[in-house]
Amino acid sequence: LFITLEGGEGAGKSTQIRRLAAHLAAGGRPVLLTREPGGSAGAEAARALLLSRPWDAKAEMLLHFAARREHVTRSIRPALEAGAIVLCDRFADSTLAYQVAGQGGDRALWDGLVKLSLDGVWPHRTLLLDVPVDTGIARAMGRGEINRYDVLGRDFHERVRRCFLDQAAAEPGRFRVIDAGQAPDAVFAAMLAAL
Ligand code: C5P
Repeated sequence: LFITLEGGEGAGKSTQIRRLAAHLAAGGRPVLLTREPGGSAGAEAARALLLSRPWDAKAEMLLHFAARREHVTRSIRPALEAGAIVLCDRFADSTLAYQVAGQGGDRALWDGLVKLSLDGVWPHRTLLLDVPVDTGIARAMGRGEINRYDVLGRDFHERVRRCFLDQAAAEPGRFRVIDAGQAPDAVFAAMLAAL
């Protein structure tokens, strides 16, 4: 079972996914908790590169998918084949939201890379932790989490949020939208109900 968490800045994904992993592991299921960009040695090296400087939008998308293929082939697929529940903090939906909707990247390139580079590995369920942009940015800033994406401006983050919500509406079988503006315990309860 392959489950992904998606959402914009300050949605609380990292906190909630750790809690979900602990909950599932306590129930006796083997769990792989992982994240993108990153999740395997090569992909973590690509993450450091991605976050270190500005990239041409297409180059950035290719780098994300190179990292993702490494992550899928070395970590995610082996864990799924061994019967684990894989919980991943961000996956290909983030690349559509950030690099295509946010940065004006090429949608056809995204579609092609999904088909050609992932060998059919795709989330069974995606929880979208949705929070208004200003709330999320305020939370992320409050934690001192400032990186190059935070300087792209409010419109960028609005496009990202809209793209995630559009993806959720387009694929209601896979997505569940969680109101991440609630208190953490309420968000977690909504996630468990959705799963
Ligand atoms: O999820 P996390 O906060 O660890 O992501 C690290 C940064 O990388 C975030 O600022 C996120 O906006 C950015 N990112 C991105 N494109 C992706 C995935 C993450 O710009 N496809």
